[in-house]
Amino acid sequence: MVDRITTEQRSRNMSRIKGRDTQPEVRLRSALHRAGLRFRVCRTDLPGRPDVVFVRQRLAVQVRGCFWHQHRSCTGGRIPRSNVEYWKPKLARNVKRDAEKDAALRSLGWRVLIVWACEIDTSAGVACIVERVIREFSGER
Ligand SMILES: [Zn+2]
Repeated sequence: MVDRITTEQRSRNMSRIKGRDTQPEVRLRSALHRAGLRFRVCRTDLPGRPDVVFVRQRLAVQVRGCFWHQHRSCTGGRIPRSNVEYWKPKLARNVKRDAEKDAALRSLGWRVLIVWACEIDTSAGVACIVERVIREFSGER
């Protein structure tokens, strides 16, 4: 059974388990890098372990998967119709935890920019987020 899983699949599974280096984050990071922005990744000492951290600007970027973090009004954030009793509380817990982590970061003086996975599905979407980050730096909204 184990042999049926390819190396590629296995590494994909592993990255999902570790919760790091998943595709959307990597795409965003390389775009930010190309735009000449410099940042730190996965600061484990900060609440919620933000995916991208701009230390000097005190801006933390959180990339969130639409399903696990329940992106509202997004098809990716729909709760499965089967096993609702299982999914509903589980996903609600994730959302609550996210809100707590964001609040903790803000109380430490960080600005938090939430990026949904669906927003960086396309290169145009990624470019849009890069612009948002730059606007955040200059204090614009
Ligand atoms: Zn979404």
